[in-house]
Amino acid sequence: ATPTSIMVGTGRAAEMGVLFRKGDALQQLSSVDVVALDKTGTVTQGRPELTDLVLADGFDRAEVLALVAAVEAQSEHPIAEAILRAAKVEGVARHDVMDFASITGHGVRAKVAGREVLVGADRLMTREGLEIGDLADEERRLAEQGRTALFAAIDGRVAAVIAVADPVKPSSAAAIRALHAQGLKVAMITGDKRETAEAIARETGIDHVIAGVLPDGKVAALDDLRGAGQRIAFVGDGINDAPALAHSDVGIAIGTGTDVAIESADVVLMSGDLRGVVNALEVSRSTMRNIR
Ligand code: ADP
Ligand code: MG
Repeated sequence: ATPTSIMVGTGRAAEMGVLFRKGDALQQLSSVDVVALDKTGTVTQGRPELTDLVLADGFDRAEVLALVAAVEAQSEHPIAEAILRAAKVEGVARHDVMDFASITGHGVRAKVAGREVLVGADRLMTREGLEIGDLADEERRLAEQGRTALFAAIDGRVAAVIAVADPVKPSSAAAIRALHAQGLKVAMITGDKRETAEAIARETGIDHVIAGVLPDGKVAALDDLRGAGQRIAFVGDGINDAPALAHSDVGIAIGTGTDVAIESADVVLMSGDLRGVVNALEVSRSTMRNIR
């Protein structure tokens, strides 16, 4: 590749809001076989809303929501924001919290009003030795609709299943179709459960899902996805996407994402959605075609 053609390609991409941070990435991207997408904030809007709160016998909605919201007020996860907005709308009581802890990829816990409160994925409940019981069926039903279902436990008893829904970005499905038309395989990597991830994949046409991945497992998931001799691009927005962005052949950050993601990426998309990936690929391929 001549330096001039790379410069021209990089300039054309920049006009479309695609910033190649290294000239090398323009070349690398033209030979990518697989595009792996982070789910939350990349395929979806990253702004979930609380949709369901199903109580176990003997628990009160306002009381459970108040305890859960008090814990989530200490968290910065998008799930926490969804729960806090709902608690505000419902005007539940406010409580102080003690001994807050965030358990990466699992959920959060704290002492609230003298009670021990846990909020998180089923694996958090399992890890704490708590029985989920009948609410497991409810969880499956919610996940199959593409919602993320969490459990709340109070003083060692599972009190409720809470679901949040994070809508798919309006442009995601068309962008994924365009990637397929360019002959690429499209996968999604997420910490969410398989049922939830598969519902989102069906809605957007994603071929392959790797679910239940802990934040430090994204790099290993990329290696599993990349077939022998294949090249992989990873697209993400979050702090926990930074290692995967650095590890993939081409790391592509959503420009509306976190600074850490942007700094770890080879390519930055100003548009904040997946159309930028399609544009980046087109520029990269046409640049390399002109050179050969
Ligand atoms: P992702 O970015 O795919 O959501 P995370 O590792 O951040 O992955 O979270 C994985 C799972 O851990 C979430 O789907 C949720 O079940 C649980 N979790 C994480 N943080 C929280 C929180 N603040 N409140 C409740 N559950 C949480
Ligand atoms: Mg994300």
